[in-house]
Amino acid sequence: MSDGSSFYITTPIFYVNDVPHIGHAYTEVAADVLARWHRQAGDPTWFLTGTDEHGQKILRTATANGVTPKEWADRLVETAWQPLLATIDISNDDFIRTTDERHEVNVQLFLQRLFDAGYIYTGEYEGFYCVGCEEYKQPSDLVDGTGLYEGQQVCAIHSKPVELLQERNYFFRMSDFTQPLLDLYEANPNFVQPESVRNEIVSFVRQGLTDLSISRQTFDWGVKVPWDDTHVVYVWFDALLNYITAAGYGYDDEKFERLWPATHIVGKDIARFHAVIWPAMLMAAGLEVPTQVFGHGWLLVGGEKMSKSKLTGIAPNQITDTFGSDAFRYYFMSAINFGQDGSFSWEDLSARYQAELANGFGNLASRVIALVNRYFDGEIPNPGVSEGADERVRTVERRVVAEADEAISRLAIHEALSTIWQLVDELNGYITAQEPWALAKKPEMLDRLQTVLFTAIRGLGTLAVLLSPIIPEAATKLWTTLGGVGDITDVPLRTAYHWETDGKVWPLEPLFPRVETIDGSDGTAAAAASAAPNGPKGPKAPAGGGAKRGPESIDAATKAPAVHPVGTDAS
Ligand SMILES: [Zn+2]
Repeated sequence: MSDGSSFYITTPIFYVNDVPHIGHAYTEVAADVLARWHRQAGDPTWFLTGTDEHGQKILRTATANGVTPKEWADRLVETAWQPLLATIDISNDDFIRTTDERHEVNVQLFLQRLFDAGYIYTGEYEGFYCVGCEEYKQPSDLVDGTGLYEGQQVCAIHSKPVELLQERNYFFRMSDFTQPLLDLYEANPNFVQPESVRNEIVSFVRQGLTDLSISRQTFDWGVKVPWDDTHVVYVWFDALLNYITAAGYGYDDEKFERLWPATHIVGKDIARFHAVIWPAMLMAAGLEVPTQVFGHGWLLVGGEKMSKSKLTGIAPNQITDTFGSDAFRYYFMSAINFGQDGSFSWEDLSARYQAELANGFGNLASRVIALVNRYFDGEIPNPGVSEGADERVRTVERRVVAEADEAISRLAIHEALSTIWQLVDELNGYITAQEPWALAKKPEMLDRLQTVLFTAIRGLGTLAVLLSPIIPEAATKLWTTLGGVGDITDVPLRTAYHWETDGKVWPLEPLFPRVETIDGSDGTAAAAASAAPNGPKGPKAPAGGGAKRGPESIDAATKAPAVHPVGTDAS
């Protein structure tokens, strides 16, 4: 049983059939910001991510590429998924692959326990199966095909025909858990969030759950059913178990007790697996259900949900090559209300980069530090008597720290950021109103000048600490420049305003330099759009120097096929 203070957070494990697009990176960054925040606040924190490597789709892709499925998975993990984490500065504590022995062995252990407890039986199943979703579909999940698939019923998500499968399978008695799940949602309204996702889940379960087919006999790329090795475990059943097999289930009881349960960050399209099937599985095994399942919204590009098959996928390094990983992290966390759908556009990214990061925050830091260097030779001055304006800055610092922390506890990352930006605005307004450059011209105002610059430097340090989970690179750079004592990630976040300096500042390079393009213009929307590569990209052809490319229209940059299909069924 957890003591309530530990924070175990997960992303979905990503299917190695795909290459990363900004939707995957968005989920990773959100989980990373939450993990970094809690870690720096002193909560025992564990952040898990990884890859989902079994199933028919991967077997087919590997076969079509002339390699074994394990070789295929190894290649994608090495060339696409692990590099993604570096590209966007992810601080995960563990990376699980469903082909890890610790996983496979304990999936079998879990299944055997369910079998022994009477929750698994043999039955016949016939239904429409979407290989893209790795899921049987109800007739109501299908829509009329168009174009090539005119006249056929297709998966609403993949727009491709489904297969009629008939199998003799093992079934999980999920129907037994209809009422226990409804009781769970009732007793713990936070179990599924946000509210829109919770409502959808509750009304789905209210219709009554059917038993779940949990094995496949028609292919063999998966975990073998322990009592019948002619079957492999259904890929979702296998994948969901990663959250406990990575946490020590079955082989490290101490670790499992310490970590479990987890907060799961998922896209809302897979909330049903996490908020219905997964807790039912855990209840059947007598284990604690997750702390929370949070289904975030979709990223829309040109008004459409981004996906590789719809050719709207954008590779994260297309953005980071031009704007840097901090800007990527900041943009997606601030521009989109976490939990709701949000639109990505190069114009919006570029505009926010310039207005909020470069001008709002970066210039504030540069100005204040330059003034201390100019008037005090880099020595942070001692303050004189405080006035109302100085007190006000200190009050805002304290309020912002508390409010941002409270927002993070609700996973409201966008709210935390807009709260922190109140301090950016407060400090900018303070500098403008106090006019330290004017004070410096009057020797009798030396005391006042010292107080103003001292107060501004204090505020900047608090900002650096607060922003370190979100824009770790820039925060660390600023911290070093401020003479911050120790590693910034060791400064307790909930008292960020108590940071210490060795008393001397250093010159600061611009934290968010202007985005240069070949035509010499700066970080405007058009310049950013022209910097966006628009050619097909894949893990074997990483995005080349985006900023060196010629101008293209914003329209082309947002709508061009940015991710090259690597799998046979991806096009
Ligand atoms: Zn599908």
